[in-house]
Amino acid sequence: MNRPHHSASTDTEKRSTFDQEVLAASHRCALCGTCQKECPVYGARRREGLSARGRLRLLTARFEGYLDKNTEKALAEAADQCMLCGRCSKNCPNDVPGMETFKAARAFFAETGVSAGMLSPRRLLLARMLPSPRLFRAMLALCRSGKPLLDQLLTRFSGLSMLLPLLAGAEKLPPVASHAALFDVPDEVAGPAGAPRVALFSGCLGTWMRPGLLRATIRSLSRRFTVSIPKLQGCCGLPALSGGFPQAATLLMERNIEALMAARADLIVTPCASCAHTLAHETPGRVSPAMAEKAALLAPKVRELSLLMAEEPGLCLPAGKNGSPVFVHVPCHLSVSFGVSCAPGDVLRRAGIDTFTDGGEQCCGGGALVPQLNPGLSTDVFQRARAAFNRSGAAIVATECSGCFIQWTRCLPTARVLHPVELLFAERS
Ligand code: SF4
Ligand code: SF4
Repeated sequence: MNRPHHSASTDTEKRSTFDQEVLAASHRCALCGTCQKECPVYGARRREGLSARGRLRLLTARFEGYLDKNTEKALAEAADQCMLCGRCSKNCPNDVPGMETFKAARAFFAETGVSAGMLSPRRLLLARMLPSPRLFRAMLALCRSGKPLLDQLLTRFSGLSMLLPLLAGAEKLPPVASHAALFDVPDEVAGPAGAPRVALFSGCLGTWMRPGLLRATIRSLSRRFTVSIPKLQGCCGLPALSGGFPQAATLLMERNIEALMAARADLIVTPCASCAHTLAHETPGRVSPAMAEKAALLAPKVRELSLLMAEEPGLCLPAGKNGSPVFVHVPCHLSVSFGVSCAPGDVLRRAGIDTFTDGGEQCCGGGALVPQLNPGLSTDVFQRARAAFNRSGAAIVATECSGCFIQWTRCLPTARVLHPVELLFAERS
């Protein structure tokens, strides 16, 4: 570390909202180390600077002027190496908001040009232009007219355009569809007479990577609900947020609020835990004041599909013994964000499927664009998940998050990776 290169008074004048956020978090930290034990990145690398406590101390040193430019770049990289899993914030005895601070750090370093890895021209284009509702609607109209080139362009509107490029092992992934599965299903599927309404938020996984998941979700939900499928929905905004583009994320979130409000539904259901987290927990605090009331109305209605299936047994079909046990990986956005670890396994067991589960205790390393930014680290974090899977003797992994799905498919190409609802409502050819 160098000596401070700003005077204390200049620092005080120039401190941004982010500076204040870092300092407030840092002042609450008692250096107890609980977050270190919980952190999957620290667990894989054993470096204090990659734990919440270590990152906070480095961020504080940076704003006190103790770090030179090179060290600052290393600090921006450390922010990019956080999975944003929330385990540090959830387990901190002093309520230090580690995950929120590191999310803000990504935005700060991207904005100030320190995180060069996040600033490719394509990503800037995505961040500035793609969330435009007018452009998006025009693209939807053209997409419906069936022009393949425009279908391809629309693919790039999804969060997958941030999740997939530069991904080591991407050749092991199923191809991203050139056509949104959302447009292959009706606007509404009727449930039983007098059934309540749900709005289905497909997420990038159902729309672009697994059209069978979208259809299985509709088949399950329509057993008890009338299902509205708003066609103006888009990416939930989490990849933009993770990439350090909060303004782009806000535009995406506001577009989704309009689409979901128009469905006039009793519940908002999504088969993706990360989309559920974003709709329920990120969106209300990130939209403009004009949209805040609508966001607050929608947030309590959000349900991740496995949780709803656990609450509503009528949504499930008995699967029968399939001969092979299923390993259930519970995403951090279910276990940490919603505090629920057993629902996916319970649903499958109730349907007659033998399961092993990691109980939501193991981050798979697929979060927050880390597989794209630092595939080596992401693979190292995956090792504990791989060991648990190998011990189970299962050949199938069930999980419900686009990031986890990509990570398990990338790191374990010999296994089949499916959503629980796909196991229960598989299409029979
Ligand atoms: S758990 Fe909280 S108080 Fe303890 S070291 Fe981590 S951030 Fe600081
Ligand atoms: S959010 Fe997760 S990966 Fe990031 S510092 Fe906290 S525990 Fe570690």
